[in-house]
Amino acid sequence: MTQLRIPGPTPLPDKVIKAMTKPMINHRGITFIKIINDVTEKIKRVYQTKNDVFLLTGSGTGGLEAAIVNVISPGDKVLSVAGGAFADRFANIARRFGADVTVLAYDWGKAADPDAVRQELKQNPSIKAVLVTHNETSTGVTNPLEEISKAVKEFDKLLIVDAVSSMSCLNIPTDAWHCDIVVSGSQKGWMAPPGMAMLSVSEAAWKAHAKATAPRFYWDFTEAKNYLAKGQTPWTPAVSTVYALDVSLDMLLEEGLSNVFARHALIGKTTREGIKSLDLTLFPDEKFASNTVTAVAASGGLDPKLVVKLMRDEHGIELAGGQTKLDGKIFRIGHLGWVKVEEIKEVIAALKKVLPKAGFRRG
Ligand SMILES: *Cc1c(COP(=O)(O)O)cnc(C)c1O
Repeated sequence: MTQLRIPGPTPLPDKVIKAMTKPMINHRGITFIKIINDVTEKIKRVYQTKNDVFLLTGSGTGGLEAAIVNVISPGDKVLSVAGGAFADRFANIARRFGADVTVLAYDWGKAADPDAVRQELKQNPSIKAVLVTHNETSTGVTNPLEEISKAVKEFDKLLIVDAVSSMSCLNIPTDAWHCDIVVSGSQKGWMAPPGMAMLSVSEAAWKAHAKATAPRFYWDFTEAKNYLAKGQTPWTPAVSTVYALDVSLDMLLEEGLSNVFARHALIGKTTREGIKSLDLTLFPDEKFASNTVTAVAASGGLDPKLVVKLMRDEHGIELAGGQTKLDGKIFRIGHLGWVKVEEIKEVIAALKKVLPKAGFRRG
């Protein structure tokens, strides 16, 4: 069997796979009402929030678009804190819906600087919302969200967070950190298949929603809220993915959130130590290296694309390459959701065999 070590979709526990094979039911019937209400409550526990939480059928990008169209009006000034492909995507969505986007760029592989956010907001008081990618999957960096939030809230701006590849793996206390909208996606750390985006909506976000004029239909939060009050979703949901989430959330909560976070911390550390033991170079600043995805730089003649190919063909381990401007410059190991230390050890052992064939010469 292949080991799927990409940053989403991620491997599924057998129980979750089984849950997905259950027959279809009426998505407006009493059985589904109970399931959607239970799943929503369990997601709130993972989000550590009392805010509204909605399950939207779509991928993580759909969740990002939902966040934008619900609170932004054409011409609104938005600050994009950007140091990777996913932050660029988020900014592009905002632009497409008419936002006037200021980019606070930081180097790919580095983390965003909360003080730089503070300075930008001081100089640019008309900014309405700040877009932050908590875990930049393209570079393997986790940004200091708590400190960024402090800076954003000093100026009372909306904080919109892409936590697609971090929520349910890393500690993100949505309410304690005053995050107004936090987006995630079922196929990342949730031990569930693709199909659903989830997001939380704060009171301040609801106020912005009431005035926002960007066009919206499918993603309209008001529709989602009205239907959830009846235990439904406005449109037909990905029922099988909801079944899966019902089971995977039980597993997560049974393990205990703090244990889940500790497991990811240990896995992240094990991965980085393994990479360094092979004399490979981490792409990101290690201080901010992600515990859900590890990016490895091309060094010592290494061909990252050949690493990905050989790992797949010779060891049945599926790694990810680099995205956009990192294409051919890095490879990435996903370690989020259902993952154990032993699996990471297998990856490191296989890499050791593959590296010489992929051009790598130890320093
Ligand atoms: C995967 C990912 C997305 C996009 O999710 P899709 O489900 O592929 O649309 C957005 N942001 C981050 C940080 C991601 O890792």
